[in-house]
Amino acid sequence: MHAEIIAVGTELLAPNKLDTNSLYLARRLSERGILLVRKSIVGDDRELLADEIRRSRDASEVVILTGGLGPTLDDLTREAASDATGRVLNLSQAIVKEIEERFRKFNRPMAEVNKRQAYVLEGAEILHNPRGTAPGQWLEDKHGILILLPGPPRELEPMFEVACLPLLDRNAPPFRFHTLTLRVAGIGESDVDQRISAIYSAETRVATTILSAPGDIQIHLRAQADDQDEARLIATALGSAIREELGEAVYSTDGRSLDLTVASLLRARGIKLAVAESFTGGLLSTRLTDASGSSEFFAGGIVSYGDAAKRDWLGIDGELLGRSGAVSSEAAAAMAEAARHRAAEVLGDSAIGVSTTGFAGPTGGNQQDPVGTAYFGIADDAGTRVHRRQMGGGRRRVRVLGVQTALDLLRRRVLRLPGS
Ligand code: ATP
Ligand code: MG
Repeated sequence: MHAEIIAVGTELLAPNKLDTNSLYLARRLSERGILLVRKSIVGDDRELLADEIRRSRDASEVVILTGGLGPTLDDLTREAASDATGRVLNLSQAIVKEIEERFRKFNRPMAEVNKRQAYVLEGAEILHNPRGTAPGQWLEDKHGILILLPGPPRELEPMFEVACLPLLDRNAPPFRFHTLTLRVAGIGESDVDQRISAIYSAETRVATTILSAPGDIQIHLRAQADDQDEARLIATALGSAIREELGEAVYSTDGRSLDLTVASLLRARGIKLAVAESFTGGLLSTRLTDASGSSEFFAGGIVSYGDAAKRDWLGIDGELLGRSGAVSSEAAAAMAEAARHRAAEVLGDSAIGVSTTGFAGPTGGNQQDPVGTAYFGIADDAGTRVHRRQMGGGRRRVRVLGVQTALDLLRRRVLRLPGS
């Protein structure tokens, strides 16, 4: 089944206003295997809108309009839908009553203009609006399905969930899609693609998309088949083949983020963690504490940004800092060990210490360690290990990638992967 969305409103054509309703609807339609083939935005113009509705209905079985159902004269969706379908608008006394009731509840008189919202396309079903006065409308005829929804997201979303989805499910074919997301850290996008392109290209029943963010690659698989179980089997088989090729670089197969993956690893193994951060400025601690309940594994962190803080707060030898520099393998090792010791002191139990120190730029760096160079230390029962990474991009990217790298190195260490 093919669908189109028409977002109505002159304000949506302004440079500062986004049509977010269609993003929400696109997600919901895709989950049901309804193929969205076109989206458009039309200003508050009755003729243009009626033309667009006609064109969309000719092309697709489901047409969804959002916005323009309010009481004011610039809300023209009802009229345009009437023009496009050749159906008259009838005043519904039931809706007038409902609107009056709503105004009474808020102790306000109902303006006559609000009656505009009570006009319903001949033959349409009314979609109740628990969050506002404008009801939605559902019309089903030989041209397909036409749905009118209010513009405000907080009204549109519950209406779509409660009133539209059951009606759509009645009309849509059974589920025929299955989606799967693999997430990868520790290797670059081109590397990933080079290694798996032959595998996914051979599976024509799956649409594969690769999305890349600093230190985080998502591989989206969307399998299509005659029935849901088959789609799931196809997606899972391709997911396993990709997983086999990329090995432990795949950190999650259920779409879960790296911080949550690390959190559940630590939690499951009863491992505690403390961090000493320099160039990541607390971002690593932020990621580690994103989910509630992180105190179970995260003891705490120190943002030892300047040399004095590294010396006085972490107890790192000033001479070491002078000799090797704060961005060095030696400093990273000492910072990780200091975090580990501090955690042991407060917890009375052993912990992993993780450190980050680097040149985020744009200033700083030296010949040997230019901007973008960072050292990551991990200290645990098995000893201390430091990893050096050279990262590209601006300050923001280096810091985000640095956090991602630290999380991934920690994951690899906890899993005792080779080279960790
Ligand atoms: P109202 O009764 O509030 O007038 P309406 O159904 O007539 O509702 P519009 O007038 O088109 O809807 O839009 C009302 C508000 O809803 C807009 O100012 C905007 O903030 C939001 N809105 C409308 N369309 C969208 C959209 N496609 N995406 C996100 N927000 C939207
Ligand atoms: Mg309006």
